[in-house]
Amino acid sequence: MDSSNPKVITCKAAVVWKEGEMIKIKEIQVDPPKSNEVRIKMLFASLCHTDILASNGYPIPLFPRVLGHEGVGMIESVGENVTNLKEGDIVMPLYLRECKECPNCKSGKSNLCHKYQLTFPGLMLDDTSRMSIHGGQVLYHSFSCSTWLILRRFSLQHASLLCCGFTTGYGATWREVHVEKGSIVVVLGLGVVGLGAIEGARSQGVSKIIGVDINESKRGKENCLE
Ligand SMILES: [Zn+2]
Ligand SMILES: [Zn+2]
Repeated sequence: MDSSNPKVITCKAAVVWKEGEMIKIKEIQVDPPKSNEVRIKMLFASLCHTDILASNGYPIPLFPRVLGHEGVGMIESVGENVTNLKEGDIVMPLYLRECKECPNCKSGKSNLCHKYQLTFPGLMLDDTSRMSIHGGQVLYHSFSCSTWLILRRFSLQHASLLCCGFTTGYGATWREVHVEKGSIVVVLGLGVVGLGAIEGARSQGVSKIIGVDINESKRGKENCLE
């Protein structure tokens, strides 16, 4: 905590300065949350392939930028209009927002909200950033998350994967494909999305799961398929 200004926090973050450049761990400043926001002390974050794409400027080259959209953290402070979360709550930030009122939010079938659509401005909903460096230079967010802020760690690392990769795969076989009980499922690619798809298929009672990957080191994951 920056004692000279208790409302601004100083912490370390993984910053990408330029398209294609390696990340650098830098000290940055994080503003307090606005009225409908929370500020989260990140405890664990994971790496998704989309972070690699973002560091190469996809879909919009926004730099300097703090990457990360998978993570687990503890709520450090809340804005005055926040009623359902409080300091100390453990949360997983998600980059898909929900208004809970539009047809998709009410459908129970999709979380692709009509009101808060997935956009890539690298900013919060009010088109400003909460992060800065070097006394005021704006840092862009990743999907309004930026989970690669590092303060401390404890054993919630696996929960971090539930924010994007694992749930993408799990949801595919659990909710989208409607895998039938007793069927045989082949999963191509045994990264976190593929392993999620395997778990989703297993939850549907399939008789056999075949994992395919060209990466030899994935053989060590054979146990996951048993
Ligand atoms: Zn992702
Ligand atoms: Zn909605």
